[in-house]
Amino acid sequence: MSDNDGKKTLGLRGGARPGNVKQSFSHGRTKNVVVETKRKRVVVPKPGGAKSGSGGAGGGVGGAGKRPAGITDAEMERRLKAVQAAKAREAEEAANRKAEEEARAEERERRRAEMEAKEREQREAEEKAKAKAEEEERKRRAAEDKAKAAAAKAAAPAAEADQPRGGAKQAPAKKPDREQDRQNRGKGGRDGGRRSGKLTVNQALTGGEGGRQRSMAAMKRKQERARQKAMGGPVEREKVVREVKLPEAIVVSELANRMAERVADVVKSLMQMGMMVTQNQTIDADTAELIIEEFGHKVTRVSDSDVEDVIKEVEDKEEDLQPRPPVITIMGHVDHGKTSLLDAIRDAKVVAGEAGGITQHIGAYQVETDSGAVLSFLDTPGHAAFTSMRSRGAQVTDIVVLVVAADDAVMPQTIEAIAHAKAAEVPMIVAINKCDKPAANPDKVRTDLLQHEVIVEKLSGDVQDIEVSAITGKGLDELLEAIALQAEILELKANPDRAAHGAVIEAQLDVGRGPVATVLVQNGTLKQGDIFVVGEQWGKVRALISDTGERVEEAGPSVPVEVLGLNGTPEAGDVLNVVSTEAQAREIAEYREQAAKDKRAAAGAATTLDQLLAKAKEDENVAELPILVKADVQGSAEAIVQAMEKIGNEEVRVRVLHYGVGAITETDVGLAEASNAPILGFNVRANASARNSANQKGVEIRYYSVIYDLVDDVKAAASGLLSAEVRENFIGYAEIKEVFKVSNVGKVAGCLVTEGVARRSAGVRLLRDDVVIHEGTLKTLKRFKDEVSEVQSGQECGMAFENYDDIRPGDVIEIFERTEVERKLD
Ligand code: GDP
Repeated sequence: MSDNDGKKTLGLRGGARPGNVKQSFSHGRTKNVVVETKRKRVVVPKPGGAKSGSGGAGGGVGGAGKRPAGITDAEMERRLKAVQAAKAREAEEAANRKAEEEARAEERERRRAEMEAKEREQREAEEKAKAKAEEEERKRRAAEDKAKAAAAKAAAPAAEADQPRGGAKQAPAKKPDREQDRQNRGKGGRDGGRRSGKLTVNQALTGGEGGRQRSMAAMKRKQERARQKAMGGPVEREKVVREVKLPEAIVVSELANRMAERVADVVKSLMQMGMMVTQNQTIDADTAELIIEEFGHKVTRVSDSDVEDVIKEVEDKEEDLQPRPPVITIMGHVDHGKTSLLDAIRDAKVVAGEAGGITQHIGAYQVETDSGAVLSFLDTPGHAAFTSMRSRGAQVTDIVVLVVAADDAVMPQTIEAIAHAKAAEVPMIVAINKCDKPAANPDKVRTDLLQHEVIVEKLSGDVQDIEVSAITGKGLDELLEAIALQAEILELKANPDRAAHGAVIEAQLDVGRGPVATVLVQNGTLKQGDIFVVGEQWGKVRALISDTGERVEEAGPSVPVEVLGLNGTPEAGDVLNVVSTEAQAREIAEYREQAAKDKRAAAGAATTLDQLLAKAKEDENVAELPILVKADVQGSAEAIVQAMEKIGNEEVRVRVLHYGVGAITETDVGLAEASNAPILGFNVRANASARNSANQKGVEIRYYSVIYDLVDDVKAAASGLLSAEVRENFIGYAEIKEVFKVSNVGKVAGCLVTEGVARRSAGVRLLRDDVVIHEGTLKTLKRFKDEVSEVQSGQECGMAFENYDDIRPGDVIEIFERTEVERKLD
């Protein structure tokens, strides 16, 4: 019914008025429904009190009393009649409604009575049954008691033993239960039951349906308001900023828990970041940190979790602290003489033991200067050890000796070393080496260093500079004294009278002795018999061996010792802590192992959306080249990983399973073996045990010192995984003119080659209205009656598809050939 119609037929318009009503639901959902309203009452002209009823109908119905302009008498009469008819109808309907309502009320009453009667009946039946059951139970118990009493009389000692289990003892305990039960049931059945019955009847029948819905909606709104208040609270409620302890990897739900946020919100937030995870998945700390910040909480990174609390560091009291030797790392560019210098110092000054001063390499050694100061040198030059320890939270080094060859200049690794020392806020001493050489130009080194903000004392700076020669031994004593002086300034102290903690400098699996770790004690004293946890391993000190190869009972602060008695090989940089019980040690080690696994899983898991998509694809056709990268410094490792990520395309990808700083260890080999990956070492080497294990397991280890070489090699390897590219050339088009049915062959298309050639061996596509509806090969290609291999453009031919029959005149056949092209990653 259009608007125009409505204007002409007032009656109708007043009678039934369809309209659109917008229904609103909770959560902002709406729905448009067409409602046909019957509002006849409003058309009744009430002199003086003509209300136009609903707003929408107003314009039309108002006309019943007044005579709108431009309406003829006949029209008017017709309208009046219509109005009267409507009135009559309304009266009739009102009567009907009343009758209906009465009938409904009756029905209601009747049903209520019915239900009440039913309920009563049921209740009575129940009560009867219960009473009966109780009566029976009473009788039974009485009988039992009697029997018991008799039995007790008969055999007194036996009865005594029996009694606790007997019914007599149980009965009193049981009775109240039963009593309670009966009472409850009675109440529920009588009162609550009836009330609830009434309610349902009422709700069902008192026309309360609308009312009920309203109250439901109201309740929902109320709940919603309450929820909004609780959730959108930030405006009204001050947000509690929590300090969230964040381990290396954390399960999403635990993260939510620690922030006291809803898991769903956290998951949502992660999704917004492109991470598709469920609440049970583990995410890495970096991601978690972003989330924590997003929720406005504070992050406290903890490397390990609650089980580690037992090894919480206690602040030492000032009076307990005693001076300790400094720990020195020698750094510098390759070939500037780090190793030679370390050897020269050791040979000249090592604290010779009673065994005759036979030194053995345990990764660190102590020397005594002429003035009596003891210095601990880390025997692993370069930044590998330095950074790997720092990255593991074990800052061992107190002083860095920067070696620069006087016949060379400040080189890239010299600069790196400076950066590392500065980053770690470790003081530096410059050893200008190779001063015995004729080409030596120590002053050039000094001025070169200025550019890197290292101002040596000779240039009025505060960095000590000593001219030395590892070959002739020149300046070595001065160097040592300079170090001792620097150490004095640092006022290094430790408390020898406490449980030890230290850092692993080197570790390997010794054939005869099992796992061995060289530990530099940093605080406390490590003693034989101590129980400790170190990284993911734990153990009990079976023996301690000093740098001079002697067995010692204990090792105090800044003393390097070989520790025997580990249950596994830790990694350089792992921290050793003495704990009180084996259980604690084992628990912490297990926890750490799990955490490390989780971390690897989190790193390797397809967590971002992109990765998920890539992974989905990969199932079909993406080849992956897994690799492990170990590098000397974090910067190189990251640069390599970045370069690796750039290699590849949508078909081939390089996946860095793990990357890290420091020597290639057995753990790395294990991981590589599990994933069939090669290990790429950048300026690092595998330790002996890793080498052995790699040989056994057939894991390839490659060493590089130039990033580009590494990248090129990986590219070449990845290219090997590329499937040859398939290129497609269109060689012709044919149009189907007619379709024949040929026995034994099926449908054959009579075609005209419109472009290029049709080739029997080529691939074909059937296009209908430019849509590919089939792709396949040809069964036959005929020229006249003969099977041919090729048909040129402009010629007619017969074609039939292999395994395909739906061909029609007008279809176009596209003929193409595929060639395979070897590809390379660029
Ligand atoms: P690193 O790579 O820094 O450990 O350097 P090395 O200790 O291996 O030394 C590299 C080369 O420089 C070796 O051939 C040493 O013999 C030589 N070299 C080291 N120190 C001196 C020195 O003081 N004088 C001279 N003439 N040669 C040295």
